[in-house]
Amino acid sequence: MTNSNYLWAPAPTPSLPVRDQGVRFPVNRIFCVGRNYHAHAVEMGRPVDKSTVRPFYFTKAASTLVESGATVPYPAGTSNYHFEMELVVAIGAPGFRVTAAEAARMIYGYAAGLDMTRRDLQLVARDQGRPWDLGKDFEHSAVCTEIVPQGALGVLGAGAINLQVNGQTKQSSDLSQLIWNISELLVDLSQFYHLQPGDLIYTGTPEGVGAVVTGDVITGHIDNVGDVHLTIGAAD
Ligand code: MN
Repeated sequence: MTNSNYLWAPAPTPSLPVRDQGVRFPVNRIFCVGRNYHAHAVEMGRPVDKSTVRPFYFTKAASTLVESGATVPYPAGTSNYHFEMELVVAIGAPGFRVTAAEAARMIYGYAAGLDMTRRDLQLVARDQGRPWDLGKDFEHSAVCTEIVPQGALGVLGAGAINLQVNGQTKQSSDLSQLIWNISELLVDLSQFYHLQPGDLIYTGTPEGVGAVVTGDVITGHIDNVGDVHLTIGAAD
């Protein structure tokens, strides 16, 4: 700070640890995919016909990032605070209008994430044709583990993904159930954005989403990736 002329200290760069590397992954943007598992699309009342629609996206500010293991306050303005367990793809190389082969080379690694959602506010916005920001892009809403480098994992196409609240299973699926797989998502998203190192992509949640309250403990798991933990604290 001593050598800058900023009015105040800029917010720190959000980042995540990289497993076993002793370095941190600086986070640039956070993209989220909506309705990417059939059973979840159905439970939300919006089934997906892949032959006629493309994936859709929303974003969260990088400042919403929370590291796994945190306790977060029950958020303001909601009485229906939901978990969504998701595979997170971490981008490590730039890409624009990429092919599937190029998409594979853009993946730095993976993480297990929670797309925390003020469901009541999201559904009001959705049904009134308004933006989803109040429901999705709010403080502490993007929870994420350390990044696991791609290494021998390649482009993940299968593996259990599940979530427990207070030890009780709420979500249980497999990455093979993704409507648009990782390569398809990167190909599609890169038609609209110049993807950059540090971008995170939350790939969508399976069925079984539900509400949590103060005192609840969330644990989510993805095979070969890791376990994400979140505790819900008191409202502030
Ligand atoms: Mn989601």
